[in-house]
Amino acid sequence: MRIYNFEETLPQEKLDELYMKEAFSLAEQAFREDEVPIGAVIVAQNKIIGKGYNLTERLNDVTAHAEMQALTAAANFLGGKYLKDCTLYVTVEPCVMCAGASYWTQVSRIVYGAVDEKRGYTVVAPNILHPKTQIIGGVLEEQCGALMKTFFRSKR
Ligand SMILES: [Zn+2]
Repeated sequence: MRIYNFEETLPQEKLDELYMKEAFSLAEQAFREDEVPIGAVIVAQNKIIGKGYNLTERLNDVTAHAEMQALTAAANFLGGKYLKDCTLYVTVEPCVMCAGASYWTQVSRIVYGAVDEKRGYTVVAPNILHPKTQIIGGVLEEQCGALMKTFFRSKR
């Protein structure tokens, strides 16, 4: 009997939305824990192999961004440091640190939600990604951005 994988039949655009929703639910978890609400998942062959959300407050660690957690988890899962056939989904454009970390993993694709006009890597170092990394922005942009706005408004 053939095991039918529904997800394989979905167009990439739909898959990207689906996984961004997963990342978004992690961002909501961060929000509930009073962390800057950013979530990330890493997908290989239609499976989530790493996930994370921002934990800089809880861990007292400025490097504890969602992407860093997810990259580490995915490398642990695969037992190797390279993520060549993986996609990183993150609700907000990566900062220069996370974009730099993604360079070392050689991740195939990065898909992000909202732009970060102040701290996004494109503002600081637009050429920092690995030349083989494909980048796509604006997936579920509105809801990802709205969660950030709500969070920072509550901080004022
Ligand atoms: Zn970052």
